[in-house]
Amino acid sequence: MKVNFYLFLALTGFSLTGHSVLRVTKDTKPNSKMMQYLQNVNTFLLVVAGVSLTGLIFLGYTSTSVGYKDKRFCLNLTKEHQENSKLQLPQGLSYKQPSVVGPDGKVIAMTPWLSPIVWEETFDPFLIDTIYKQQNITIATTVFALGKYTQFLKDFLESAEQNYFIGFRVHYYVFTDQPEQVPEVKLGEERQLTVLKVPSSNRWQEITLRRMEKLEKLIESRLVSEADYVFSLDVDTKFYGRWGSESLGRLVGVIHPGYYQTPREQFPYERRPESQAFIPHAEGDYYYGGAVIGGLVKDVHEAAKTCREQLDIDAAKSIEAAWQEESHLNKYFLYNKPSKVLSPEYLWQDFKPHTNEVKIIRFSQVIKNYAAVRPNP
Ligand code: UDP
Ligand code: MN
Repeated sequence: MKVNFYLFLALTGFSLTGHSVLRVTKDTKPNSKMMQYLQNVNTFLLVVAGVSLTGLIFLGYTSTSVGYKDKRFCLNLTKEHQENSKLQLPQGLSYKQPSVVGPDGKVIAMTPWLSPIVWEETFDPFLIDTIYKQQNITIATTVFALGKYTQFLKDFLESAEQNYFIGFRVHYYVFTDQPEQVPEVKLGEERQLTVLKVPSSNRWQEITLRRMEKLEKLIESRLVSEADYVFSLDVDTKFYGRWGSESLGRLVGVIHPGYYQTPREQFPYERRPESQAFIPHAEGDYYYGGAVIGGLVKDVHEAAKTCREQLDIDAAKSIEAAWQEESHLNKYFLYNKPSKVLSPEYLWQDFKPHTNEVKIIRFSQVIKNYAAVRPNP
């Protein structure tokens, strides 16, 4: 770029000089002495132009200040672009609720803000994995198993090793109050597991509420340098089908399997205005499941931090949102739209009968006896 610019300058200068000399020649009808003089001038100018050109090329290569400016300009552009890539929305906007299944029974693969909704047949698994493998990425995966929920770890991890980001570098971070209960599961190549001890709790609400804070702090202390993407998943679950790089995006949420054909006013959002998770009846896109949140480490950090702050404000007022952190996540996703939305294929419930639109179940909540696994009713 720089060199081309100098070359252009020099050549323009040269051709202008040559042009004016020629004009003088033509207009004055000079004698041969005059011709010779002009030819000498011409040669002289040619040499001057040549020397300047060489000098300018040399300067272009060595001048750091010009190069630095170029670089700074590019960095600014990138930063601005990142800021704009957030899909934020003001509160109180009136628009039609997006559908998940069309009137013809066919699934809808795009949100009205043009983020993909990932369904079977909307992507080529081989193609998309090949693209993302080029990026040499690490996918951190956090999972909480406190109290009796440690019993779900074995199936969760074993089925993940069969289906979840196969061929990618995956790092599980298991939060538990009983590290000795974490089962030995054989992990594939380039996959690892870290156990993180956390205090026990005798209230399940407290456990789920603290997940956002733990995720926020883990990102700050480790994931910023250890991973590119992070998914936080429920442990009382199992993988039944492929879950791969098609799920990657800047900010990723999953449509809850129980409400994808429900009118928004019937979504189990938090409806008390006193709560930070409050969503009015006239607003809402989808009801997102709290069992899955993912995306780039930086964007998930922003989401987790915001939810944690909102949860703290509620706690100080002794308000607990209808579905704890799921309610706060729904509020976050309404005003900070996900850049990719996972269809209910990525969060089913084992007790739910299969439906026509969901062709494959990839990840599903197992049936559990709430009274037997939770520390309190
Ligand atoms: N959890 C836990 N121990 C508990 C209760 C919850 O480890 O005693 C964690 C676990 O990761 C679980 C998540 O919190 O998957 C969400 O709770 P739960 O699955 O009970 O909520 P649900 O999916 O039934 O709404
Ligand atoms: Mn669950």
